Amino acid sequence: MNPSVRILYYHVIADRPSLLFSHGISPRRFERQIVCLKRLGYRFVALSQALSQPQPKTICLSLDDGFACNNASLLPLLIKHKLRPALFLLGMCIDNRALAWNHKLQILRNSVPRHLLNQHLCRLIAGADLDNLFQVISMSTKDRLTDELWASCMSYDQEEFLQREKPFLSVSQLRTLADNGAELALHSASHPDFSRLSLQEATLELQQNMAAFEQFGLPYHRLFAYPYGRVMSANEDAGLLTATTLQATFGIRYTLQDNHTTSTLWQRQNMESGPAANFIEFALKPLARSILAPKP
Ligand SMILES: [Zn+2]
Repeated sequence: MNPSVRILYYHVIADRPSLLFSHGISPRRFERQIVCLKRLGYRFVALSQALSQPQPKTICLSLDDGFACNNASLLPLLIKHKLRPALFLLGMCIDNRALAWNHKLQILRNSVPRHLLNQHLCRLIAGADLDNLFQVISMSTKDRLTDELWASCMSYDQEEFLQREKPFLSVSQLRTLADNGAELALHSASHPDFSRLSLQEATLELQQNMAAFEQFGLPYHRLFAYPYGRVMSANEDAGLLTATTLQATFGIRYTLQDNHTTSTLWQRQNMESGPAANFIEFALKPLARSILAPKP
């Protein structure tokens, strides 16, 4: 039997929208998803358990980037429903030490009129605007360029923002979540597009991510969710696993053929897409992707 473990991912489960992320769902809707999936016969288990012993009709939960706005809603739900989500965390952001480039851009989008932002962007990178930035910005300059963009557009600095808003989970919040069943795991140091990194650059990202956990004495699992789900080639993915002794990597292109014990690259499904997320993510998308891009 194909165990076909489903791994769901979220960013924001909160009533208040995050300044750092444009989507997300309310705790009420999240709980409805959980209850509905339990009624359909699914069991919720920790990601590490699903990887070592995949069972049919099993679901793992995960949350990316480590946003603090989840803390108030997540902890009671985690205890009430005995959930053990994986929290994929960014090395540079743990404990509010820095903003990753994608967060800086989201805050800028929320704070600066679009045409002004495009004018500033165009001055920094010829021909760049908000629509094509992801394609034209180089991964080696993304942090410097978004710092420059921030400095030219914002009236307060990033340190001030981090201290005022505290947008990321603190070390003590992470410890409490881990003590109550959450598994802490890897999401890179600075949230680059890994499909545009060399194996050496990718390895360094993972090493810096692990170093941050070790610096704070936080326990972590050697599981890595690719930022944006943008995976490296199969050869590079295998090289990354070997170089950093990862247990598994995670993309976001789930089809009905995915998530077997024979694979080290697993696929996740986003569940922040609205009231029909269960149907779309559990039936429609996996089937469509299986038909459009069947696995060999
Ligand atoms: Zn992310």
